[in-house]
Amino acid sequence: PADTVPQAPEDALFGLARAYKADQSPLKVDLGIGAYRDDNAKPWVLPVVKKADEILRNNPELNHEYAPIAGVPDFTSKAAELILGADSPALKEKRATSMQTISGTGAVHLGALFLAKFYKGNRTVYLSNPTWANHKQIFGNVGLQVADYPYFSKKTNGLDFDGMKAAIRAAPDRSIILLHPCAHNPTGVDPTLDQWKELAGIISQKKHFPFFDCAYQGFASGNLAQDAAAIRYFIDQGFETVVCQSFAKNFGLYGERAGCFHAVTSPGPDASTTISRIGSQLAILQRSEISNPPLYGARIAATVLNDATLFAEWEDNLKTMSGRIITMRNELRSRLEKLGTPGTWNHITDQIGMFSFTGLSEAQVLKLREDYHIYMTKNGRISMAGLNSKNIDHVANAINKVVRE
Ligand code: PMP
Repeated sequence: PADTVPQAPEDALFGLARAYKADQSPLKVDLGIGAYRDDNAKPWVLPVVKKADEILRNNPELNHEYAPIAGVPDFTSKAAELILGADSPALKEKRATSMQTISGTGAVHLGALFLAKFYKGNRTVYLSNPTWANHKQIFGNVGLQVADYPYFSKKTNGLDFDGMKAAIRAAPDRSIILLHPCAHNPTGVDPTLDQWKELAGIISQKKHFPFFDCAYQGFASGNLAQDAAAIRYFIDQGFETVVCQSFAKNFGLYGERAGCFHAVTSPGPDASTTISRIGSQLAILQRSEISNPPLYGARIAATVLNDATLFAEWEDNLKTMSGRIITMRNELRSRLEKLGTPGTWNHITDQIGMFSFTGLSEAQVLKLREDYHIYMTKNGRISMAGLNSKNIDHVANAINKVVRE
């Protein structure tokens, strides 16, 4: 009977958003949700997205028929080139297959489901500690075990590289290792390319399966190729891997749910038949889960990705977003240092992407919320895009006060 269904807890992030909305103070600042805001704290429709929308609206050929099961072809092909690199050996050798998904979440889910059905190694997914809160439930929901590897050092507010390596070495052979290739959520801490190379060595030795979740390409450095460098390095080394790709942040298409899942096999004589078998299984999974992916966001992205002029304009838009975020990092750090706020604050500018892990305690986070109307997640993560020229003094002064208490 239905009354046996227990109450589930509210999603922490969306609960935070609700509390922010209810706050009537003119001082209130939302540093919770990971969505870009402009200097007026408003959502930003990328100018290139407006242009693409105009182009689509004026195209009399378009209709609302179903997309193919694997998605809009001129979206998925360009999405693959974008993340794997147009000259990727995996694309040249036809050993990659792509499936359009319900944004990045849908890509992670499809990958999880595929592994749950077909993965023959150690069926445990190792997640960074901490990681995006949804990872655990997505993998858990399809019956895979989850474990974690150390990632963030509270001492340095940077990467615990030794801890990470030791845990990946200690995991049973052929485990699944989830990796954030750039702009790690929630910490903003990424390995350097040399560290990625070292990790690739260990993952290869251990015959682990690298699973990439890339939600912020173009957001970390402002450079699309640089943000995909870790993925491309692994593929160049001949790894079998999967890549989840979101267009929510880099196109500002959050609610349109444009994303893509890519599977890549190792080079070899059977690689392209293997990949077509994988593609056929992904199509079955896709069919039973969502039947056909949504059109609008994919069409917007495809319009931009297939046009050199629009693509260049998109890169400019990306630089506007990543540049404003980097400015806010510098401004926050310099204010805290000027105020002599106890502790070190270099991690704010060392970390990259949408988020900063401030090192603030849960008690300090709650104090910021109650006394200063500043909203962030309990782990002290702030969304850098929530800062702007109007609220940064208030935020810096408030952090300074709670840290001193
Ligand atoms: N993975 C990570 C690490 C993320 O941070 C996010 C967005 N918060 C996603 C996946 C998925 O986002 P979306 O489904 O909106 O593309």
